[in-house]
Amino acid sequence: MINQYTGTSPKGDLLLLQRLAGVFHGRSFLHVNSTREGGGVAEILQRMIPILRSLGIDARWEVIKGDEVFFEITKKIHNALQGNKEIITEEMWQHHFEVNRQNAANIDLDADAVLIHDPQPGPLVEFRKKGSWIWRCHIDVSNPFKDVYNALGRYALKYDAVIFSVAKFARAMNMDEFIISPSIDPLSEKNRELTGEEINETVERLGIPLDRPIILQVSRFDKFKDPLGVIKAYRMVKKYNDCVLVLAGSPATDDPEGSMMLKEVKEFAADDPDIIILLLPPFSDRDINALQRVAGVVLQKSLKEGFGLTVAEAMWKGKPVIGGAVGGIPLQIAHGVTGFLVHSIEGTAFRIRQLLNAPEMAKTMGERAREFVRKNFLITRQVRDYLSVWYAIENKGKSIIEL
Ligand code: UDP
Repeated sequence: MINQYTGTSPKGDLLLLQRLAGVFHGRSFLHVNSTREGGGVAEILQRMIPILRSLGIDARWEVIKGDEVFFEITKKIHNALQGNKEIITEEMWQHHFEVNRQNAANIDLDADAVLIHDPQPGPLVEFRKKGSWIWRCHIDVSNPFKDVYNALGRYALKYDAVIFSVAKFARAMNMDEFIISPSIDPLSEKNRELTGEEINETVERLGIPLDRPIILQVSRFDKFKDPLGVIKAYRMVKKYNDCVLVLAGSPATDDPEGSMMLKEVKEFAADDPDIIILLLPPFSDRDINALQRVAGVVLQKSLKEGFGLTVAEAMWKGKPVIGGAVGGIPLQIAHGVTGFLVHSIEGTAFRIRQLLNAPEMAKTMGERAREFVRKNFLITRQVRDYLSVWYAIENKGKSIIEL
C-alpha cells in the first residue's frame, strides 16, 4: 500500500516510514477518539489506520460512547479551550470521568502505544495498563479559558507526552511536547483526481450552477467556522461580481450545536437563490472533492481553528484558499503566495474579488499551493511523525542531551 504513494509523497518520508515500520513491526498501536464520522480527526483516522496496518503495525481505532449530556459537556470543554468562558461544574467533570470509566471497561486499552485524540477521551489515561500514552490535542488552544484548561491538565500530566498541531499551542508543560501538523491523504476518495464526468455528475446531482464562479466553504456548522461572516463577505462581493456561494457541511456525532447553527445560517441566507446550503450525509467524500475542484474561490474563514484540513484539501486541488489568520491556517497559507490570510469580513470580500478578477494569478497561486501541500501535509509525513514520537518515548532513557 505504501508503494502507492511513490511519486506523490516526498521520497525521504517514504524511506523513513519504511525504516520505522521495521522498528515497530508487529507492535500494537491504539487510537481513541469520540466520533467515527464528521470532522478532521475521524477523517485522518479513517485513512491512517489502514496505512499503519499495511506497514505491519497492529493498529486499532476505538471510539468512546457517551450520552447526550456527555457530548454537551465535551462541546463546552472544546469551546472553552478555544477561548469561550464556560463553566464546567464539578458534577460535569465527574460525568466526563464516569463516562470514560465505563468506556475503559469496554475498550481493550492494552497496546504498546496509545494515542488519545482530544479531550473527550482524555480521562482514559487513568486506566492505562501498559505502553506509551500520548495525548493528541487537535484544538486551537492559543488562548484557552484557563479554568477549564487547568482542570484538564490533571489528565494531561499523566500522559508520557502531548502533541499539538501548531507550535504556538504548546504550553511549556512539565512533560514532553511535540508539534505535528495534520495531513490529507492524496489517494483518498476526497482528494484523488476525478474525471470530468465524475465532477459533472456530482455538481448536477447537487444542483450547483456552473455559469458563474463558485465561492465555497466546506465545514461543520460551527460558530468558530464563521458561516455568517462568509455570507456577509459574499454579499459584499455580489454587488460587483455575480457569483454563487456554496456552504457545504455535515453533522458530526460529537457536535450537538451543529443543528442550531445550521438553522441560524439558513435564516441568515434568507431567500437568496444564489446561496446554496448543502447538508451532506457523512462520507460524502467524492461530493466534497468535486465541489473543491469546481470552486473558483475556496474559503476557510475560521475565527479559531486547530488546523483546518479543508485548507490543505483545497490547496491540493490547486486552489488558492482565503483563510482566517488563526490556528493552523497560517501554517498552510503563505499570504500572497499560496493564498490569502484574512482578519475581517471586509478583508475576505476584498480577497475574493481579487481572485475572481485575476484568474491567471489565482492559477499560479494554486499551483504553488499544491506543491506546498505535497512537501508538508501529506499523510505519509504524519504517519512518519507519529512513529517518530513513539520511538522517542520508548527510547527516552537513552537521551544524551538535556532539552
Ligand atoms: N467535511 C466533510 N463533509 C462536510 C464538512 C466537512 O467531509 O460536510 C470534512 C472536510 O472535508 C475535512 C474535515 O471534515 O476533511 C474537517 O476537518 P477540519 O480540520 O477542516 O475541521 P474540524 O471539523 O476538524 O474542526
